[in-house]
Amino acid sequence: MPRALVTGANRGIGLEMTRQLVAAGWEVIAACRTRSIDLDALEVRVEELDVADDESVRRLGERLQGVHLDLLINNAGILDRDGLEPLDLASIRRQFEVNALGPLKVTAALLGNLGEGSRIVLVTSRMGSIADNTSGGYYGYRMSKAALNAAGVSLARDLEAKGIAVLLVHPGFVKTEMTGGRGTVEPGDAARGILTRIGELDPKESGSFRHADGSTLPW
Ligand code: NDP
Repeated sequence: MPRALVTGANRGIGLEMTRQLVAAGWEVIAACRTRSIDLDALEVRVEELDVADDESVRRLGERLQGVHLDLLINNAGILDRDGLEPLDLASIRRQFEVNALGPLKVTAALLGNLGEGSRIVLVTSRMGSIADNTSGGYYGYRMSKAALNAAGVSLARDLEAKGIAVLLVHPGFVKTEMTGGRGTVEPGDAARGILTRIGELDPKESGSFRHADGSTLPW
């Protein structure tokens, strides 16, 4: 049975990916800060993880020693609506910790759990695309997701020799708590799109930036 670890698995898109992976026969390790009734109903192994807390990430790595992962989905993220006047540095720093450093730290802590054929997914956002930024604002979110994209490409290059492929994927505008329930895509459909993209990931295209609908996004 293939095994996956999903961060931010207690709600939103992470919960839906967990649900669909289980239905598809995967063993899933659900990593989250707080479990939820919906997650408990899936009866998967739940591991405590705060991606902003270095110690929490280190402890997860320790607890998972020797556990092989075929798939690591870095999904946990936050969105603050910070602007320019005034500049909210605390908010920008918080988003960097969670959205950019979090996935990189988790990936580094779990590198020993991955091997030839394993895949790493970074759930990013087209708001991290510099070419696609036509409306400005959202400094912390845009900057942190752009930094995540840069990390994803470095991971793809660094892990190529180990046969580990990396995918950067934007889920679409999804109806979750993050968007206050607004959006054009249901969480289940976003999860299905992401899992389809993971399934068709060609190692030769490791480090590519995809929309869950399959299109390629500009950097
Ligand atoms: P939700 O707000 O519904 O879920 C966010 C998840 O991230 C929750 O499980 C939350 O856990 C977790 N999380 C937040 N901070 C931390 C932390 N420090 N440590 C561990 N887990 C944490 O949002 P979505 O499901 O919509 O978002 C999932 C991903 O998709 C994010 O990376 C987001 O940036 C990205 N995305 C979403 C879009 C959308 O339209 N919804 C568009 C583009 C990208 P907790 O319950 O503990 O807070």
